[in-house]
Amino acid sequence: MYFKAAVLEKKNAVKIIKLKKPTILQKGQILIKVLYSSICHTQLQEIEIKRGKDNFLPHCLGHEGVGIVEKIFKNCKKFKIGDKVCLTWVKSGITISKGNVYQDFNDRRINSGPVHTLNEFAVIDQSRIYKLKDEKNIKNKVLLGCAMPTTFNIFLENKIKKNMNICVLGGGGLGLSFILIAKSLGCKKISLLDKNQKKLRYLKSKFNINTFKSIEEIKKDSYDLVVECTGNIHVFEMSLSLAKKFGGKIVVVGNYQKRLLSKLNPWHIIEGKTLKGAWNSEIDFKNKFSKLENLFKNLKTNFYFSNKVYKLTEINKAIKDFKKGKVIRPLIKMT
Ligand SMILES: [Zn+2]
Repeated sequence: MYFKAAVLEKKNAVKIIKLKKPTILQKGQILIKVLYSSICHTQLQEIEIKRGKDNFLPHCLGHEGVGIVEKIFKNCKKFKIGDKVCLTWVKSGITISKGNVYQDFNDRRINSGPVHTLNEFAVIDQSRIYKLKDEKNIKNKVLLGCAMPTTFNIFLENKIKKNMNICVLGGGGLGLSFILIAKSLGCKKISLLDKNQKKLRYLKSKFNINTFKSIEEIKKDSYDLVVECTGNIHVFEMSLSLAKKFGGKIVVVGNYQKRLLSKLNPWHIIEGKTLKGAWNSEIDFKNKFSKLENLFKNLKTNFYFSNKVYKLTEINKAIKDFKKGKVIRPLIKMT
């Protein structure tokens, strides 16, 4: 039996290819029938070969999705057939299976990593799979695979108080997930920087937040917390100037093109500003995932997808619309 998969053949060339469905699983491997998947900016960078030389072409894509367990490796105790699961790059425990090699219709080898979600079926390592408590709103739970875990972790690793003055730089999937969670926890003073004015107008009224379209408009030395989600190296450099002296924190979440360097003014650090990442303890997400899923139940997340659902065969349209900002996240239905 064959199934459809989005395969990166070379730079900017994603093709739908039929792959042979594996019948034998190695240790650590779980066969998943993927239901829905999404794409983030890291995936765009991968497609545009902006993450360093890609030695695995042609290969499968995607690291955020939901699906059903169809087959498990021998002696697997973590999952059972029929479990509804979230698929993610965020791992828990050790990676046993580093990836699967599929065969296409012409017996050509197609590589994959421990997680890949833009395919009707996938052999995924057990460390990248989380059992969902329920199937309610399952399509939106693709968000639990990428944007949400990273931003949720900022709340777990930092004391974020309701009265803090917070500035979010970048209103993409990461920034919006941060705002959505912050609002649900009662944070009131939130500002957002984004260059898309239409989006800013919408978010301003939706979340009752301050908005800025250029970083130069934002008052310096005035935020308790700055969350940098743009992946823009210039914005990263400027982000330090926005935090309060003596106690202000800058958390960097943005995904920067590999090998970009920046110039930072050391006086920001001398004056008591703290610069840190979103993951400051080693990732072991199992317990955190459960907390995130509980919180997710109360979040309204339909607006990420703009009520659009793409078919897998429309992958290139989904990528195009995502690049143009027509959707915050493209939702892709596998079959
Ligand atoms: Zn992602």
